[in-house]
Amino acid sequence: MPGKRGSQPGYDVIVVGAGPAGSAAACECAKSGLTTLCIEEHGTVGYPVQCAGLLSNAAFGECRVSERSVLNRISGARIVTERGSGLQIDAKTQKAYVVDRGALDREMTEAAAHAGAEFRLKTAVYGVHETAILTRGVHGHEEIPFNILIAADGPRSTIARLLHMGRAKAFLAGIQADMSYECDPRFAEIYPDASPDFFGWVIPAGKGRVRVGLCGKTQVPERFAAFVKKFGSNSTHLVTGTLPLGVMPRTYGHRTLFVGDAAGFAKPTSGGGVYTGIRSARHAAAVAVAACEQGRYDDATLADYERRWKADFGRELEIGFRFFEMRQNLSSQDIDTVILALNEPEILSAIVRYGDMDRPGVLVQQLLKKPALLRILAPLLKSGVRSLFS
Ligand SMILES: Cc1cc2nc3c(=O)[nH]c(=O)nc-3n(C[C@H](O)[C@H](O)[C@H](O)COP(=O)(O)OP(=O)(O)OC[C@H]3O[C@@H](n4cnc5c(N)ncnc54)[C@H](O)[C@@H]3O)c2cc1C
Repeated sequence: MPGKRGSQPGYDVIVVGAGPAGSAAACECAKSGLTTLCIEEHGTVGYPVQCAGLLSNAAFGECRVSERSVLNRISGARIVTERGSGLQIDAKTQKAYVVDRGALDREMTEAAAHAGAEFRLKTAVYGVHETAILTRGVHGHEEIPFNILIAADGPRSTIARLLHMGRAKAFLAGIQADMSYECDPRFAEIYPDASPDFFGWVIPAGKGRVRVGLCGKTQVPERFAAFVKKFGSNSTHLVTGTLPLGVMPRTYGHRTLFVGDAAGFAKPTSGGGVYTGIRSARHAAAVAVAACEQGRYDDATLADYERRWKADFGRELEIGFRFFEMRQNLSSQDIDTVILALNEPEILSAIVRYGDMDRPGVLVQQLLKKPALLRILAPLLKSGVRSLFS
């Protein structure tokens, strides 16, 4: 049962959004004994899907779910360019899962509900009035008090807008189609030329199905139409979404902690946001628990959240964003040069050994130790990456 604040029922923590970050935060808060309410504007958690469903082993582990949502297992990647150069990285052991995101999100929500979090579906938050949120939905209009608010409301975060918070540095648009297409189910394919701002992908999702998509800054529908036609015209499910890159300037304030895509935590190298989203949610929950125990909700108390996520993955996101910026200046020809330079047995084995989808900085550090590679890459990458490690 919710706790009482004055004459109105209130909650220790209200989480806005029941994506993976919101459910993880709600689960941790409820497990710690906080009265927790999670509010989701849709009637079904996990839909519409806005994801390719590719999760590293570590990211899938962070979800703490069964393997019910698993559709395929990935052990490597292929980079395919229009100019004919290519690269195959084969770890020969499972590196990632392809999941049904709808099913995964629902299982995470069920775990949070089981831990004691309350859920209110088909209810949208449209206002924050000091220490209460304003909602409209199946329960009509409500004003619900909170001690701590966790904003897990995704890339378009209403809460960030209502509280006049700074936003992520860049927003990419993404489109993806589910299609019948035969390819080697062990490899995720990356197509840099499909989107010069970012990249295109083909993710094998099991049973002869693939997810063909791309993210980019400009001309996204046109580029997607040109890309997808190479794989047929039998799409049965279309996904569109927004990818926020470059963390918002401040991830706390006004008794609120911003987690997941609401904070801009998607990885700028891959667009993956589940790993960092869930980890940020657990840091936020730990800070919310401490704040509620002490009865202190001021910025000095909440600043601990930013210290925690920065110590965990802040540097990776910073390095990733530098790569994203460099990528904007790489031509097709530059990418071929990079691929040719990487396509050496010694480099490929370093990629297999140190490559980590969630922490690519480790691999970059290793590659920067290879003088032959540096000689080729330095003119393209300028001094940007090196300076991050100095
Ligand atoms: C095309 C595309 C492909 C992607 N592929 C991958 C991938 O393969 N792997 C990966 O790790 N990541 C991928 N991502 C990123 C990933 O989907 C997100 O990073 C992840 O979903 C973020 O989780 P979240 O819980 O922060 O936000 P979301 O999953 O966006 O959840 C936010 C929730 O908040 C709810 N909400 C929003 N506003 C309100 C409101 N006012 N009131 C109540 N509820 C509200 C929404 O309905 C939603 O359920 C992809 C993204 C895109 C666009």
